[in-house]
Amino acid sequence: MSGLGKGITTASIGRLLKNRGYRITAVKIDPYLNIDAGTMNPAQHGEVFVLRDGGEVDLDLGNYERFLDISLSSDHNITTGKVYQTVIEKERRGDFLGGTVQIIPHITDQIKTCIRHAAEEELDNKTHADVCLVEVGGTVGDIESMPFLEAVRQMHGELEAHDMVLVHVTLVPVDNMGDHKTKPTQHSVKALRELGLHPDIIVGRSECVISGGTKKKISAFCDVPPRAVISMATVPDIYHVPMEMEKEGVADVVLEYLDLEKRTPDTEWYHLVSREYTNRVTVAIVSKYGIEDVYISIKEALKHAGRALSTEVDIRWLDAETFDTAELADVDGILVPGGFGKRGIEGKLRAIRFAREQKKPYLGLCLGFQLAVIEYAKNVLGLADATSEEMGPGLHVIAILPEQEEVEGLGGTMRLGEYAIDLGENTLVARLYENTGITERHRHRYEVTPSMIADLEAAGLVFSGRCGNRMEVCELPDHPFFLATQFHPEFTSRPTRASPPYLGFVTACREERNRES
Ligand code: GLN
Repeated sequence: MSGLGKGITTASIGRLLKNRGYRITAVKIDPYLNIDAGTMNPAQHGEVFVLRDGGEVDLDLGNYERFLDISLSSDHNITTGKVYQTVIEKERRGDFLGGTVQIIPHITDQIKTCIRHAAEEELDNKTHADVCLVEVGGTVGDIESMPFLEAVRQMHGELEAHDMVLVHVTLVPVDNMGDHKTKPTQHSVKALRELGLHPDIIVGRSECVISGGTKKKISAFCDVPPRAVISMATVPDIYHVPMEMEKEGVADVVLEYLDLEKRTPDTEWYHLVSREYTNRVTVAIVSKYGIEDVYISIKEALKHAGRALSTEVDIRWLDAETFDTAELADVDGILVPGGFGKRGIEGKLRAIRFAREQKKPYLGLCLGFQLAVIEYAKNVLGLADATSEEMGPGLHVIAILPEQEEVEGLGGTMRLGEYAIDLGENTLVARLYENTGITERHRHRYEVTPSMIADLEAAGLVFSGRCGNRMEVCELPDHPFFLATQFHPEFTSRPTRASPPYLGFVTACREERNRES
């Protein structure tokens, strides 16, 4: 079921294999009819992750990229919408002429083609991966996921004996006596069997560690050896999950099923993610969404930078519509993330003004960049009606991108994915990246109005990153740390390689904290 941790389980198994020198790729199957996650409300489905090629995908692909340190293409997120679209297009072209087009075999064939294609795709410009992880989202027994599970069943028959291993992630709840209950697992395994699928490994998700006795019971009821029943208890830090799974011996079981050589795992990852914290900072994130999953990549990027700097980053989530400015007084830094629409804009502008005037470290991302420019226009240039075209009438300091004016429809039509950016020499941003040429990922429709640039710069705002005549970064030289980017650096941040703007921000927060104390 959703929210259980299938994505983290999948990514963690991948990490364990990668630690043994295997090259790993991953596919996420989402059984919804949307073509991609781009048009879905993040408050319901969590963050829309953006890939290098501009694909707007499920947040689990973010976990794969972070855990496995790879870059995936849009082909690695298979949705019911994409599968049906392809099959229906083929039908209209006449590819099935004379035939009746059906879920089995046409939809299931297309699913298998998509999985194979993603598995065989080049990985990081080299040959294909050794192992492809395929995460089937949804719940066993749901109508939506049926064609996918059927495709998996067929693949099982078609592949060589040691080319596939089936892992079932299941909830093992704890009753009020503190005992683990195995019934849900027994029933979901039964439901899988009815579909012709027999799990090789069962990962039991639970609040606390599953004992040997319970494992034996699951083993007996579900026909898997006890050592293939893996306990996966909730841990405070997701990057510790691979370590916990390593202790459970899951990697060896997977390798046995796949008939791959067992190798001594590299332990660098564990050292990195268990680094001790010697400092702590508090960062305010001003957002209109009540749920943190919307900004998962930002949360993770702050964590990566924090780990690299041995600094624990506490996040104070502030509701953009209701927070009191006084709540910003004792934080060490302020972050305004990306967003769409008008709601909460006033509060975000108030937070940016506070950061600028009180010299608190500020990091603005996408909308947080656009609002930093608007705030500057309003309160430094004195243009009281400065706003973004997205928000309605006023002086449009931020306006629609020229290529967006002709756009029809909302799916996949923004300025998306990786673009190259030139950074100005001797600027904060170039110092952070240690480079003047970078590429980062984007997802937006609006930009700084070109005719406003000269006035803003004359008033002291420095545009330190550009893509042609498009403004990508702004900063304030007479401020301890005031940096905002039109792009989303969080999408390329990795636990093993923190993002430069985030490293700069957390460093500045630490200095701010030291100054206070
Ligand atoms: N809504 C803004 C735009 O479309 C910002 C987008 C974002 O923050 N991702 O340009």
